[in-house]
Amino acid sequence: MKQKEKKQNALLYERPNFYKDAQPEQIKAAMDYAEDYKAFLNSSKTVRETIRFTETLLKKNKFAALPAKKGQKRVYGIFRNKTIAMAVIGERPVSEGINMVAAHIDAPRVDLKQNPLYEDATSATACMRTHYYGGIKKYQWVSTPLALHGFVVTKDGKYLDISIGEKSDEPVFIIPDLLPHLARKEQYSKNLSEAIDASKMNLVFSSRFEAGSEEKEALKVYALQLLNQKYGITEHDFISAELELVPAIGARDAGIDSSMVVGYGQDERICAYTALTALLKDLPRKPKRTMIVYFSDKEEVGSQGNTGAHSVFIQDFVAQVLAQNGEDCSSANLRKCFMNSQILSGDVTAAIDPNYPGVHEKQNAVVFNHGIGVSKFTGSGGKYGCNDANPEFTAKVLKLFSDARIQWQMGELGKVDEGGGGTIAYIMANLGAEVIDCGVALMGMHSLYELCSKADLYCTYLAYSEFLYKG
Ligand code: MN
Ligand code: MN
Repeated sequence: MKQKEKKQNALLYERPNFYKDAQPEQIKAAMDYAEDYKAFLNSSKTVRETIRFTETLLKKNKFAALPAKKGQKRVYGIFRNKTIAMAVIGERPVSEGINMVAAHIDAPRVDLKQNPLYEDATSATACMRTHYYGGIKKYQWVSTPLALHGFVVTKDGKYLDISIGEKSDEPVFIIPDLLPHLARKEQYSKNLSEAIDASKMNLVFSSRFEAGSEEKEALKVYALQLLNQKYGITEHDFISAELELVPAIGARDAGIDSSMVVGYGQDERICAYTALTALLKDLPRKPKRTMIVYFSDKEEVGSQGNTGAHSVFIQDFVAQVLAQNGEDCSSANLRKCFMNSQILSGDVTAAIDPNYPGVHEKQNAVVFNHGIGVSKFTGSGGKYGCNDANPEFTAKVLKLFSDARIQWQMGELGKVDEGGGGTIAYIMANLGAEVIDCGVALMGMHSLYELCSKADLYCTYLAYSEFLYKG
């Protein structure tokens, strides 16, 4: 390159494509990483399943549940089976600050109502009523195979994990959509958000009854009999249960070059998985600062409740980590610790979609294969509800990634006033820590089949690890 050209390039902000300079072994590493990621997505379709996967992996890596024995440096805590935090205690005192990656692990879905089952005489079927969770486009959930996952506490106190529809010999469930022939008035005359009425998202659960049966509600009774034989549950047990419908189809490669992964729940299990594996990446190397990865629940409905990011859990966990390291865990010292801390809020952002480029402002939007997406702010309108990261911290994080030659790109969710969305960044920042959002860009976010680039997935894993160990 000529001297003059070099000088000019030094003045410009460039964001190269991952594949431009990638070595064959880097490409192979990115492709290999996605294999385990797909397996994770398929085994972790609910919050509880994600917690179980995480705990198993942590135990394999010699992490111990808090309170742990003295000297134990790899610890974790689970609260109400729906939120988890894990730490590797560093060489410096914990109160000098931690490096944390925080991500939520809930995903939009369709829940069963608490009293869901009914017999529909008009259609001669038994159905289940549903209530959607999070920001879904309702039309995506009809006419698609669904699996039923969840957790039931029976009347006599037994805990049961339910999963129907994942194995090839198990049935799946369908919320039927209206045939186009008869949709003129019911759907075509309405706008997209009203065309599928939430009260018409009932699932066809069964269609036969026991031969010779003349019982009232014979269909419903037969369906309950089958459930009772398999799980020992009765209709009463639905009332306290947590039963969720998720896409029955598993994650798989997408594109003729298999350069992408398509699958459900990537918002937000993609940032959770990359954070978890980033934490384990360089063990047993001991970091200077304490590293923490935190998974919260309920982000898609506002982060409240005892397992959401607003709950006291993460503060209590860090207090326990202070105690584990023999440090003062008073509330003043805990505050000091958070105010000395730096946190990456791991959340997905929207990649430019070839069909809808107009909702983005190209110069500030993220695109596939250009690395981890860093968002200085989220929110909507005039940055309402955002955590606008401080320049000192933003520059520090970007330098960290650049120095390690990890591809990153700056990006905001969409055009100003086009829409918007939030993350848990501001909740973590309320604790006094420096926080910035960064994660993988998706196409079709919140759909049943979200799409990510394997290169971005891999860059995010590397970036989180660099931040946790060296940030
Ligand atoms: Mn989301
Ligand atoms: Mn998210």
